[in-house]
Amino acid sequence: MVALLIQYVRLVCPYDPIIDWCKRSGQEQARMFKLGLSECDGVKKRSDHQDAKAIDLYLGKGSKLIWDKALYRKLHKFWSLLGGKEMIPGDIGHFGG
Ligand SMILES: [Zn+2]
Repeated sequence: MVALLIQYVRLVCPYDPIIDWCKRSGQEQARMFKLGLSECDGVKKRSDHQDAKAIDLYLGKGSKLIWDKALYRKLHKFWSLLGGKEMIPGDIGHFGG
């Protein structure tokens, strides 16, 4: 699914796909939870990242990140067609499966 998403980005976006988090350990998830960077504590509420079922993908141009919500909605619509989960408001670069 991720490979298809990246190809789709290349087709419809004038920006580069930037891949951030993919697989995340329980320890890292707990650290992020404690810092308030995630709503998932990694035990009671697991992140899709812990099961390698998510990727954080951003759009960039050079060293600049692009926050075009309409474009992210388009990418998430494609992701949903592949069977992925819907976009999380406030975490538009997260593509969960
Ligand atoms: Zn994520």
